[in-house]
Amino acid sequence: MKFTVIIGLLVIAACSSGMQSQTGTSSHIFDPTDSTKIVKTDSEWKAQLTDEEYEVTRLKGTESAFSGEYWDNKKQGTYSCVCCDLELFSSETKFKSGTGWPSFYEPIVAENVGEITDNAYGWSRVEVVCNRCDAHLGHVFDDGPNPTGLRYCINSASLKFK
Ligand code: FE
Repeated sequence: MKFTVIIGLLVIAACSSGMQSQTGTSSHIFDPTDSTKIVKTDSEWKAQLTDEEYEVTRLKGTESAFSGEYWDNKKQGTYSCVCCDLELFSSETKFKSGTGWPSFYEPIVAENVGEITDNAYGWSRVEVVCNRCDAHLGHVFDDGPNPTGLRYCINSASLKFK
C-alpha cells in the first residue's frame, strides 16, 4: 500500500513538472457530430494549439492538479475536444473528485472516447483519447460514483467548454 502511494506521488510529480496553465484561442471549427477521423501533422497541431494544449493532447502530458481551467467549473454545458471540437463530456456527469482535474462518470457518447492500456511508469492504467483526432485526454479509473462507477480524470487543457 505504502509502495503504491509512493509510486503514485512519483508519477504525479513526473507528470506535473514544468506545466503552466495557459489560455489561448484556436481558430478551428469542425462539425461536432461528424466522427470522421482527423489526421494532422505535428506542425499543424502546434500551429493550432497553445503550448500546453499541444503537450497534453499530442504528447500525452498532464497538467498540474488544481491548475487547469475546468477542475472547479460548475457551469452547465458541454466539454468538447480542444483539438477537433468533438463533443466528449457533459456537465451533467461531472462530479467533485477532489483530484484537481475535471472528472466525469461517463462520456456524452461512448464511441467518442477511445481507451488504450497505458503501462507508463510501471503502472497499468487506461488512457482515454478523442476517437476522432486521437488527442490524449486523461485516464479512466474504476473508483467513480454511481451510476457507472467510473472516473474519467481529464486534463482541462484537452477540453473546450461551451
Ligand atoms: Fe479530438
